[in-house]
Amino acid sequence: MRRGGKHIFVRIRALDELDDLPPPSPLPLIRFCGARGCKRRARPGGRHCSGCHAAAVRRWREAHRHELAVRRRDAAASRDDDARARDSARAKLAMALRRGAIQRGRCVDCGATDVIGLIADPARWREVVWVCREHRQAELERRRDATAQRAADAKQAAWYAERTRALAAIELLPPAEWARLHALAARGPAGTQLSPGAPLYVMNLVRVYKASFDRGEL
Ligand SMILES: [Zn+2]
Ligand SMILES: [Zn+2]
Repeated sequence: MRRGGKHIFVRIRALDELDDLPPPSPLPLIRFCGARGCKRRARPGGRHCSGCHAAAVRRWREAHRHELAVRRRDAAASRDDDARARDSARAKLAMALRRGAIQRGRCVDCGATDVIGLIADPARWREVVWVCREHRQAELERRRDATAQRAADAKQAAWYAERTRALAAIELLPPAEWARLHALAARGPAGTQLSPGAPLYVMNLVRVYKASFDRGEL
């Protein structure tokens, strides 16, 4: 008994001495590639190693090459259309100014009379905003901010639409699939469990549903 007591005392002393040492740094988390039969390490933040990821991207591009080509063509065509429309709007404004149909205004910021006209929408080229050189940059920045805000709003709306679609589709899954996706969605950062109402839970759920769908598992 005495020996046992002494033993415990020594161990506590040893622990106390360890308290003065810096805590050990956490072990680096090694994750392996999720591809079947692959033994390499996953990319940071990714599920697969860089080789398997690149191969998956190649396969996806190959499978979607027709859509991608159409999208590229449409984008190029609409860029050309935009440029043409802007040129035409500027030409119309210049003509209207020469004919006196439109008068130059004053700078919207400072009231200066040495101004240039900014056309926001080529289809409504008569709605010109007049700015001096000094305030042109400020006006362009305001427009860029407004455009960025619209893009962010559109992205948000697209996410909500996708979320609604995915959640509806998940409800129609067979019970086993439904449970599997919900179990994956509950995995929070650093081993925490998320509750079904948490925003991150819903994001996870939609993400794992999409990933399973893209892999053809559903
Ligand atoms: Zn791999
Ligand atoms: Zn000005």
